[in-house]
Amino acid sequence: MSSAFAFPATHARALGRSPLGPRPLVARSIRPVRVSSRPALRAARAAADAVVDKAAHNDEQSALRDEMVSGCTECTMPFESERASALANAALADHTRLSAIAKDASERDDGCSKMALRALVVGAETGKLSKALLEHGATHVLVLDHSRLMLDRAAEQFDGSETPGVVGNETGARFARADVCDVPAYQGPFDVVVFNDSLRHQADPVEALRRAVLLTRPGARVVVSERVSEESTEETENAFDVDALVEDLPLQSIFDDPKRGKTMMRMTRDDDSSSEIHETSPSFTERLPTRTSETYLDHRCGSVTHTYEVPPLFKLRDRVVLNAPVVEGFGRGSRLMGVPTANLDPAVLEDELAGMRRGVYFGYARLPEDAKHGKWCKCVVNVGARPTFADGEGVTVEVHALRDFGRDFYGENMEVVVLGFLRPEMRFDGLSALVARIMADIGLARGALDERACRERVDETVGFQASDE
Ligand code: ADP
Ligand code: MG
Repeated sequence: MSSAFAFPATHARALGRSPLGPRPLVARSIRPVRVSSRPALRAARAAADAVVDKAAHNDEQSALRDEMVSGCTECTMPFESERASALANAALADHTRLSAIAKDASERDDGCSKMALRALVVGAETGKLSKALLEHGATHVLVLDHSRLMLDRAAEQFDGSETPGVVGNETGARFARADVCDVPAYQGPFDVVVFNDSLRHQADPVEALRRAVLLTRPGARVVVSERVSEESTEETENAFDVDALVEDLPLQSIFDDPKRGKTMMRMTRDDDSSSEIHETSPSFTERLPTRTSETYLDHRCGSVTHTYEVPPLFKLRDRVVLNAPVVEGFGRGSRLMGVPTANLDPAVLEDELAGMRRGVYFGYARLPEDAKHGKWCKCVVNVGARPTFADGEGVTVEVHALRDFGRDFYGENMEVVVLGFLRPEMRFDGLSALVARIMADIGLARGALDERACRERVDETVGFQASDE
């Protein structure tokens, strides 16, 4: 039998599991913390408590899910193959990376592309999804779960099959007992992430989504599938609003309207295989299957699928140069959180801002009058609406430079060359949500600015050698 633990030790360790046996997934991150003040002490205690709580949550999930692996899968989940296939379809149909792979293959002599399409599956379930993803064009699938037994069961899908098996570093499916928040960046970047009936059970679903998004490539799909359990009611389903969870993340529904991005899939034992229902649903509650008969209740296997996309980066047709003094911001204290944003005076930027939509951009910035920091460095720029308490009409321009200046530069001129658009403006509830989002944006901006095509364009059009920082 294939084993979920048949990895090289390096992989097992990287993903938080000892090759000698299971151990708590997150306890290893508890380290002694030096503190020098009361607020710092409180923050350190809260952080340590959160780590312990999460470890306890994950242990509980692990035990629960271990218990769930019993009996005959075909009997208890008769529509798993259909669900897996529909999910793989949501994840990969019309995926830009698949088209790029097909194009690459057609241009090669041997007709085989060397490009990868990586998928991350959070929640092993029966393993049918990982198989379906490989069949739909994924080249690598990494499956995570807290339950060893679930992983073992999922790995069985690959026993003796033609599909590539559990093979450490090689192409195919790999299974790891790990938390999605602990997946190191080098395992990606992923083109597809599927929360396979698992988002609801994460210790912190928003954090899990954010970490997952950080592991993706622009243009990636993020699919959230939630089974509709027999106990679920309109109230319980509405309480877990996936669209609300992704609201502040750099994700957009693959449909224009996030509400219409939800698709409902419903299957019953009475249906024949062709009667699988795929619909775009205006509202989830309207689509809850009506419970008409016992048979229907017993054998129903429905799920709601939400499909989102990490927006591809839009390179601006014409670069925008912003040159303005740095003014006092709103004192939100973003500097304290490690992401200071230099607020540029919007009054002198009226012309430039007229053509820019609200949202997050990337480019290069410098302090032209500073001998030491006159070199261009990467930056993220937020062009945002004024908070409601201000005049309501104007915009704010906030620049976070990916460099440590070691000082403040209020009153000095900052020059910014804006090269690309990351995503539209999003609402956020508080400072930590803002900071979390800026972190994700920074990762995306850094990746975009590292791309050769982008760097060459910078060198050509702006006439400077883009810094390697
Ligand atoms: P404010 O609310 O006044 O904008 P912030 O907490 O956003 O305050 O901090 C912004 C200030 O931090 C900038 O005006 C600038 O003087 C300073 N600063 C230091 N390093 C950076 C950096 N890497 N990027 C942006 N601003 C920086
Ligand atoms: Mg600021």
